[in-house]
Amino acid sequence: MRSTYLIARFRDLEEGDWLEVRCACGHVGRLHQPDLAQFHYMTLIRSIEPRFRCKRCRRRGDVIVTVINR
Ligand SMILES: [Zn+2]
Repeated sequence: MRSTYLIARFRDLEEGDWLEVRCACGHVGRLHQPDLAQFHYMTLIRSIEPRFRCKRCRRRGDVIVTVINR
């Protein structure tokens, strides 16, 4: 398992990796490979956090994005 520390940009993701998007309210969403194609490969992964609106509490940008890899 690679350290998620080293995965800063979308180009660092490998096949099978996905992103967990966790809102402050506890709601957890997932972004899998097909969803990731919309982002430029040089985009910093943490930089997309302000873009998310939670499906449950409707707050925007109060999320933490984590890389999940196995
Ligand atoms: Zn929420």
